[in-house]
Amino acid sequence: MTRACNFSAGPAALPEEVLKQAQAELLEWGSARASVMEISHRSREFMDLAEESEQDLRDLMSIPANYRVLFLQGGATQHFAQIPMNFANPQQSADYIVTGAWGEKAVREGSPYAQVRVAASSLDSAYTRIPARESWDLDPNARFVHYTPNETIHGVEFQDIPDIGGAPLIADMSSDILSRPIDVSRFGMIYAGAQKNIGASGLVILIIRDDLLERCPDSIARIFNYAQHAAGHSLFNTPNTFGWYLSSLVFKWLKAQGGVAAIGERNRAKAKLLYSTIDKSDFYSNPVEPSARSWMNIPFFLARPVLDAIFLAEAAEAGMLGLKGHRELGGMRASIYNAITLSQVSRLTEFMEDFSRRHE
Ligand code: PMP
Repeated sequence: MTRACNFSAGPAALPEEVLKQAQAELLEWGSARASVMEISHRSREFMDLAEESEQDLRDLMSIPANYRVLFLQGGATQHFAQIPMNFANPQQSADYIVTGAWGEKAVREGSPYAQVRVAASSLDSAYTRIPARESWDLDPNARFVHYTPNETIHGVEFQDIPDIGGAPLIADMSSDILSRPIDVSRFGMIYAGAQKNIGASGLVILIIRDDLLERCPDSIARIFNYAQHAAGHSLFNTPNTFGWYLSSLVFKWLKAQGGVAAIGERNRAKAKLLYSTIDKSDFYSNPVEPSARSWMNIPFFLARPVLDAIFLAEAAEAGMLGLKGHRELGGMRASIYNAITLSQVSRLTEFMEDFSRRHE
């Protein structure tokens, strides 16, 4: 069997070079004479990796010096709760901009820990657009404003960072981190699960501005307290060492690709090719307003849903996996994260064109 072309939404395809390097180093990593999974997170070798990977991420994203970078266990869902725990309390308000299923989940998990307000939502359009900025009902006293720049299920992405006035802006970048250049200084905090553009699941990366860390209350358990993790350089407890190691390889790979600007141009071209294939046919459709379309996750629907199962079976036969749409939406979805190449996307679009010709 040969490796398939994997359009999974996450855990998602990793660069083949990274997997091969991890494979080659699995038994003996560097000078450790053991696997990276088998040594102490406080060993010199691992601490060097921790330091270098943080520096690589800082270089890739141009992270200013007044931000801390944390590599913690877990996933983004945990931080839906942990963010209001650290930056608000049940009497204080926090604004949420909801443009899809993940924003909804952030609201639900955050609600026990703050007066969560949905300041804007595009539920009325079935999450096919971003609500006009003038319509946002922001509270001037909100402790922070939370949003999801890229909604992985609905395929809706902000093309610009919203201007929200004085409150810190917090972004769940689980499915768009490192996909194009962004200005980190516009954010109070950025966080992302690793299993799409960074590496393996079980690791979450947080980038937090120093002044926000001063707000973390002593009343919460230390394991939930971001300031505690920052003081311990993400080694307060045992981190996901293998996940951290994999992310360090992905950062080196990204640098070798020319960095985030170069990968962003590739991502733009990949998305353009797939959307143009969808838009020029009556056989396929994507419901998202063109100005809000994601570069990373592209849902599409066949005009005749009875063909869905045949499409998936033929795609699998042709070596393409992970195209089944999310259960909330049905249809198809192609996730084309950084590790997916333009030639893999054109393999998909050629298959789609051929399939539509044969089933029209
Ligand atoms: N936010 C977004 C935008 C996501 O895409 C996902 C996972 N698909 C999550 C949050 C949840 O991540 P996890 O399952 O790692 O908690």
